[in-house]
Amino acid sequence: MRIHVLGSSAGGGLPQWNCNCPNCQSARDLKQTAISARTQSSIALTDTGDAWVLFNASPDIRQQLNAFPELLKPNALRGTKIKAVILVDSQIDHTLGLMLLREGETLQLYCSAQVYEDLSTRLPLVNILQYYCGVQHHLISPGLAFSVPELPFLEFTPIGSLSKAPPYSAHRENPELGDNLAFSIYDQKTKKTLLYAPAIEKIDPDLYAYMENCDHLLLDGTFWSVDEMSAISTPYKKAYEMGHLAYSGPEGMMAQLRELSCPKTLIHINNTNPVLDQRSEQYQILKEQGFDLAYDTLEILL
Ligand SMILES: [Zn+2]
Ligand SMILES: [Zn+2]
Repeated sequence: MRIHVLGSSAGGGLPQWNCNCPNCQSARDLKQTAISARTQSSIALTDTGDAWVLFNASPDIRQQLNAFPELLKPNALRGTKIKAVILVDSQIDHTLGLMLLREGETLQLYCSAQVYEDLSTRLPLVNILQYYCGVQHHLISPGLAFSVPELPFLEFTPIGSLSKAPPYSAHRENPELGDNLAFSIYDQKTKKTLLYAPAIEKIDPDLYAYMENCDHLLLDGTFWSVDEMSAISTPYKKAYEMGHLAYSGPEGMMAQLRELSCPKTLIHINNTNPVLDQRSEQYQILKEQGFDLAYDTLEILL
C-alpha cells in the first residue's frame, strides 16, 4: 500500500492564523527552512494507485488536493480517484473539508454511529451535503473489519481508541467506544499492516496488541509534554484533557512504546510542539527513541 500524507499538523495548522509562537513565526518566515509549514491532519491511501481513500477531510483539503494532482481521474474532464472518506472522529479539523467535496459524486462516507450522529445533529455537515453531492453512510464499528470495493487488496479494522469526542458532541462527557477510532490496515498483496492512530489519549492492551502486530505506526504526535499549552491558551488544558497522550515523561508515548521496533512516525503535530524545530533537544531525543516526524507530502510504502 501507498500512504501519502496530505496534512501533518493538528488543528490550527502551522502557522496558525492568530498565533505568534516561535514555531508559527518561523513557519511564516519563508527565508528560513528549519520549520516547515504544515496543513491539518489527513492522509490518502491506495493499494494499486487506481483508487484512493482519504482518512479525514481537513479544512485545508482544497490546498492539499491541488498539491497532489495524481488524485484526479485521468483522461476525463472532471473526476477523482478518491472513492471514499473514512473518519476517525467528528472533530472540526478532520471533517470540515467534507463541505469542499460537494462538487463531486455522492460522497461515500465510512464512520461510526457516534460520529455520524454528531455530523447529522450537532455539526450537521451531512445534512447540508444532501443539497449538493449527497452522502452515503457506511457504518463502521470497533473490531469489525471492512473493505472499500474499489480498493480490493486492503482490509480496514477500526479499533476503539478512547480519546475525547469534540466539545459540541453529545458524548463529550459520556464517552462511547466509537467516538474515536484508530485503524489497522492490512494489504493482502504485500502482507503488510499499517496502524494509523492520529488521536490517542491512552494505549490500552487492545490497541497495544494491534501495535505489536504491525509494520509501521502512524501515531498521534500532538503534544511533546502534558503542559505544553500552559504558555499559550486560556483556559489552559492539559494534553490528556484534550484527548492526547504526550510523548515525553515516564508515562508518555515514547516510554510506553519502547519495546516496539517497527518504524514509528508521528502525525497530527500541534504548532506548539518543540520537536517541530529540528535543532531542538526534544527533536534529538525523539530521533534517539526511534520516532520520525511526518511532514506534508511524505510517502510511506508498505
Ligand atoms: Zn485533530
Ligand atoms: Zn503557534
